[in-house]
Amino acid sequence: MIRRSFLFMTLAAAPLLAQADDPPFPPHRVIGNIYYVGSTNLASFLITTPQGHILINSSYERTVPLIEASVEKLGFHFRDINILLDSHAHGDHVAGNPLVKKMTGATVMVMQEDVSGVPGTVDKILHNGDQVKLGGVVLTARLTPGHTKGATTWTMKATEGGKSYDVVISSSIGVNVNPGYVLVNNTKYPGIADDYRRAFEVMRSLPCDLYLAPHGAQYGLAEKYPKLEKGGPNPFIDPQGYKAYVDNSEKSFLSKLEEQKRGR
Ligand SMILES: [Zn+2]
Repeated sequence: MIRRSFLFMTLAAAPLLAQADDPPFPPHRVIGNIYYVGSTNLASFLITTPQGHILINSSYERTVPLIEASVEKLGFHFRDINILLDSHAHGDHVAGNPLVKKMTGATVMVMQEDVSGVPGTVDKILHNGDQVKLGGVVLTARLTPGHTKGATTWTMKATEGGKSYDVVISSSIGVNVNPGYVLVNNTKYPGIADDYRRAFEVMRSLPCDLYLAPHGAQYGLAEKYPKLEKGGPNPFIDPQGYKAYVDNSEKSFLSKLEEQKRGR
């Protein structure tokens, strides 16, 4: 009896411990049919359609129950997720893939260059420019490499108040988030610096009214969300913020590159 209740307490405490360093974040509608269902640090986006939903970023396995709770809180069903996508093959965005797949039966689609870094089944391999279509939604996969070889930026249109908006769901394009990044003589990833340059070029070419990213801090979630709560104009519509995001990411890339070329 004692052993049993001890075991129960241990299991019950586990999710609380997991959440301590990455607590839940209020789920919310970003624009149109795009919703935030991620945790405080790890962004996941739900794109709803009448024929099922698309989830971008499963995050860690321990984050999956948070994502599920957020989806249900918004009035949708986690089991209705038909397609699972990701921003790039780093554990904090894809480690939960096998669990999401098990819970929803979703079709997992991954950019070719990132397939080897994604755990679990990959049902469909994507290439730059491929479109993912479901229930009237069209997402275009743009290869924006560097952060990983297959880092994927998703673009789509969203409608709100009768207007159409260009949405960019960016992959990570930063070098600052990974301080150990080797940009010069990287034997594991020889073309990394050229790939980063290509990514910035692609990012600049995209029309963008509203941008999102795999970490809330990359698109000002903590500052924008309270404004959304207050009402008024949608704070996530931020074309200038997008330009600054790309510029700042490129600046930090270039300074890191110079630093490493000088051998510091
Ligand atoms: Zn990453």
